[in-house]
Amino acid sequence: MSAIELDEHGLITVCPSCGQRNRIAFTAKETRCGRCKAALPAAAEPVEVHHEREFDALVREAAQPVVVDFWAPWCGPCRMVAPELARVAAANAGRFVVVKVNTDEVPELGERFRIRSIPTMAVFRGGKEIARTTGAMPAAQIEAFVSGALGTT
Ligand SMILES: [Zn+2]
Repeated sequence: MSAIELDEHGLITVCPSCGQRNRIAFTAKETRCGRCKAALPAAAEPVEVHHEREFDALVREAAQPVVVDFWAPWCGPCRMVAPELARVAAANAGRFVVVKVNTDEVPELGERFRIRSIPTMAVFRGGKEIARTTGAMPAAQIEAFVSGALGTT
């Protein structure tokens, strides 16, 4: 299970200094722990989306771009992508947020975005999808896709 969760109000992360659970608003660029005031690190791993409303709040409000991996547990290439995506999230903490949408668990999102094959990765900025790609690929290629979408190559 991911150490970072989310709900419709923000990312929920555990303070590395004191263990306090903190909610970081999607709009926040940096946040301090509510208890010990330590700076909370940006999300450095893919975050699982469990509900449509969380996804909508995140892409609408996020201060950073959001990279979405549409996947399903029975999909072999998706399992190959998972560790690559984790590497991308770790290397780009604070630059963009990486989330995973299990299209079996949240089929509403798969239908709304017309996901025809998985894995599909999409980049959202300012509440809008700006790029998508399909198929398994290594971390370097995922980063190149995201950088290209964000115009930062
Ligand atoms: Zn703390």
